[in-house]
Formats: sequence, C-alpha cells, structure tokens
Amino acid sequence: MAYQFPILKYSYDALEPFIDARTMETHYSKHHKTYCERFNAAIAGKPELAALSGEAILACIDKVPEDVRAAVRNNGGGAVNHSLFWDVIGPKAGGEPQGAVAEAIKSAFGSFAEFKAKFSDAATTQFGSGWAWLVLNKEGKLEIMKTANQDSPLSVGKVPVLLIDVWEHAYYLKYQNRRVEYIEAFYNVINWSRVGELYAAAKAAGKTCGTGCCSCS
Ligand code: MN
Repeated sequence: MAYQFPILKYSYDALEPFIDARTMETHYSKHHKTYCERFNAAIAGKPELAALSGEAILACIDKVPEDVRAAVRNNGGGAVNHSLFWDVIGPKAGGEPQGAVAEAIKSAFGSFAEFKAKFSDAATTQFGSGWAWLVLNKEGKLEIMKTANQDSPLSVGKVPVLLIDVWEHAYYLKYQNRRVEYIEAFYNVINWSRVGELYAAAKAAGKTCGTGCCSCS
C-alpha cells in the first residue's frame, strides 16, 4: 500500500501570522508531496516494505534493503515527519498543555517554561537542516532531542509527540535567517490537545514498538 499524502485539515492561511500562507502552501503541496512521491517510488518494488506503515518502516530502518535504505530514510522520514508536523499544529492553538502530558512535562523538565527553553534550544542549535522533538523514550519518560535532515526518533526507538521543522524551507520566506523568531512564534500554533492524545497513545502502547516496529517484536 502506498504511503498516503495526508489531507491538510486547515487552510494555508490558518496559521497566520505565525506561519504564513505562502510557506504553508509550498511546504505542504511541494516539499511534503515530493517526499511522499519519492518514498513511494523507493518502496514500490519492495512488497515487504509496502505492507508496513511508514512509521513501522522507519522504526526498522536498519532492516530496510540497502539499495533503498538511504532513499527510505530521507524520503520516508520526510513523508512521515511532515504528516505528524501538520497534525500537531493548527489554528486557535498554542497556550500550555493540560492533563497527563502537562504532568509528564513538569516531571521531566521541572516546568513548562523549562521545557520551552530546552525545546527552543534544541531547535535553535540543530546545525543546518533538521528537526527538534519531544519524544517518549523506552523508559516511558519524555525527552527532547534533535535530528539532522529527515531522520526520525522512531529509528532509535523513541516515539515523537511534538516536533518542529527547522529546515530553512519551514521559515525562510517569512523569517529569512531569523530562526529564533520562527521558533518563538511556533508556540502559538502547537495543538496541545493533539500532543496529549499522541502522548496517551504512546504511553498506552507501553513500549516503543507500539508503532509496529519489526525489530523489537
Ligand atoms: Mn519541512
């Protein structure tokens, strides 16, 4: 089954003024779409991969046949990462998390303010293209990490619940080189109720192969 390019649940201008409509349109309809197409092209001749979800493939990236592994890592990562990215941001969002995820953030980082400082620092200091993440680790605790290019935490056994794209294509049209301003604006579009659902699902899965990882079952 081909990886589905997801439908965006809000309009391109819905995240203004924090993320501009032109960036959203290019990012979703060009960058993300291309990752999905190239991911599907890479797994087209591999029925054993095509049977798995995108997340499951990334979770067992070391078992992906070597002839397509780099293409899957880059384009599968690009496809899956962006699908999650659109899912955890939205209009009329921002503020602070509530409920279990808020408690887990407090427990892991001390306070929401300290979480924010650490997440922003990871996003700021990711050198070159990549992502900063809030993930659930194998011990069931939240942690912050960053990855280069389109690498996924799933490939190191961690389940993402929040992510920020710090590739220049995510902010350059509006913010040019001012990545820090983009990161600060990003907090206004985080859909914490969705993050809370992802956290609950990851917790309920009990272990990080809840995504269908073939390497840890
Ligand atoms: Mn991107």
